[in-house]
Amino acid sequence: MAVIAGNWKMHRGPAETRAFFEALRIEGVPEQHELLVFPPVISLVAAAGARPARVRLGVQNIHWEDEGAFTGEVSASMALEVGAEFALIGHSERRHVFGETDEQVAWKAGTAVRHGLVPVVCLGETLAERRAGRVDEVILRQLDAVLPELAVASRSMIAYEPVWAIGTGEHATPRDASSAHATLRRRLAEALGAGPAGRVPLLYGGSVKPTNAGELLAAEEVDGVLVGGASLDPAEFVAIASAAS
Ligand code: PEP
Repeated sequence: MAVIAGNWKMHRGPAETRAFFEALRIEGVPEQHELLVFPPVISLVAAAGARPARVRLGVQNIHWEDEGAFTGEVSASMALEVGAEFALIGHSERRHVFGETDEQVAWKAGTAVRHGLVPVVCLGETLAERRAGRVDEVILRQLDAVLPELAVASRSMIAYEPVWAIGTGEHATPRDASSAHATLRRRLAEALGAGPAGRVPLLYGGSVKPTNAGELLAAEEVDGVLVGGASLDPAEFVAIASAAS
């Protein structure tokens, strides 16, 4: 079983969202794979009305508070009300463009869990951190920040997304993805146990395309992929999902 998740970022309004689902042909994708789409929040209602039952929806970001004077923000309960079941938490663009800290990421993960949204916590190193040999240190710091929240979640996922691979066309090698995932897996097993609690699915993200999805999905410890650009095209999204064995 693999998780194939599409993060549309700030693309596709409601009309384009309906057109995407009209064009989506998932009949050939093996039933055991889980398909998730994270449209912009403004398109969630359209997505909820147009999606096939097998495609589940998520929100790209939530605020950590339940309500209040936070202009432009969206709460977990609002996202749930319009059909989201999952929430991206701490996406690289949230951390690096909008300055989200590990602490805020943890608050958001906690809020998602408390409201019954499945948190998909994104983490990964920058190019400078990779060049400095700090991959494990950085991703473990980011993971440790959310472990108390994951410990009480009935379900959660982690997306390892090296910052240098997001939207660049340059992807991690299957070996590098496996190595980072093995590091995360060991810490999860230490903290949450080797049983089901510690078996948090680990997705790889960063320039996943139909041409590289097969080898990345076949890599050790890779349980799925989080796809940005290529998930905007229904045929590419299906081709990536079909590459999972
Ligand atoms: C992402 O947005 O999470 C992502 C991995 O983007 P891309 O696939 O375009 O690199």
